[in-house]
Amino acid sequence: MKTYRIAVLPGDGIGPEVVDSALKVLDAAQKTGNFKLEYIFGEAGFSAINKHGTNLPEGTIKILKSAHACLKGPMTTPEEEGAPISVAVQIRKMFDLYANVRPCRTYPNASGMKGVDLVIVRENTEGLYSGKERKIKGGAIAERIITEKASERIAEFGFRMAEGRGKKLTYVHKANILRMTDGIFNRAVLRVARRYPEIRVEGMHVDAAAMQLVKNPQQFDVIVTTNLFGDILSDEAAQIAGGVGLAPSANIGEKYAMFEPVHGSAPKYAGKGIANPIAAILACKMMLDYLGEGKAGKAIENAVVKGLAGRKILTRDLGGKTSTRKAGEIMAGMI
Ligand code: NAD
Repeated sequence: MKTYRIAVLPGDGIGPEVVDSALKVLDAAQKTGNFKLEYIFGEAGFSAINKHGTNLPEGTIKILKSAHACLKGPMTTPEEEGAPISVAVQIRKMFDLYANVRPCRTYPNASGMKGVDLVIVRENTEGLYSGKERKIKGGAIAERIITEKASERIAEFGFRMAEGRGKKLTYVHKANILRMTDGIFNRAVLRVARRYPEIRVEGMHVDAAAMQLVKNPQQFDVIVTTNLFGDILSDEAAQIAGGVGLAPSANIGEKYAMFEPVHGSAPKYAGKGIANPIAAILACKMMLDYLGEGKAGKAIENAVVKGLAGRKILTRDLGGKTSTRKAGEIMAGMI
């Protein structure tokens, strides 16, 4: 029997509550396959700063490095100048998790839309997130770095994903304005496209894509785009599917991956038991798929669909009264 070591970082605010519910569902999903999950808990986030002077202590980095994958809860990021940068960003950099994957699927009783099943693949390492800013007289300049290498790598990831799905890929850009940088990105996508003749490929300007996501999201299968465009479009997509409480994400590299809900630590909801655990639960589904345990992953998604269809797991954001803990218990019981 295979054993996977999972680094679990519960995080801040509503993090520990949603991660606790997610682990209950994950435990139930284990029973559907021939594998075992070993959880190793680590401290990280705002709550670690007072004790360790950093939001990602050395001990936690060791845990991350010893694991097959990481399940991360949301964390509060201090905004003062000089404060440690976001834990998610640190982990992405540390393990070169270059692909940020955010699926958007409409489930029963969670959204007014139907028939949406798309995934946004966002380049996670460069673009406007290069962190390179400098002051000029009367203002400042941020560098938007786009390289052929990173563009081809994310395009390849997107095409491989489209191969196993609806066989359509939309690359989103603004090459009419950003001619040099998005020219490089677009040409890289089209170079990789030659290796995937069975995939339908279309390019779309980012403003048109934002509009089409609201107007006709069913047209999309895999969207591949640069860092900032992907960040914005994936929050828009999450809203189409019922809000951030349902939206999972994966950060994937060549040798490691981290899974987390899209949402933040929602401090005003902390300890109240009203947060929706589905985003964290679906992040566990993505983790099982990544580990090659797709059958157990599917069992998790089926429990989410069944629970939502029966209106048994509707938390406050979905107009219900089910608590975070109860929703997790019900879904675990459905596996
Ligand atoms: P947030 O996602 O924490 O909350 C925004 C709103 O979304 C909440 O007020 C709530 O109405 C709703 N919401 C979020 N999660 C929900 C859930 N599970 N169930 C129901 N409703 C939910 O975003 P924010 O207020 O901008 O950020 C709060 C903190 O989280 C900040 O410190 C920010 O830096 C951090 N953050 C962390 C991550 C991460 O760890 N990956 C991501 C985003 C924000």
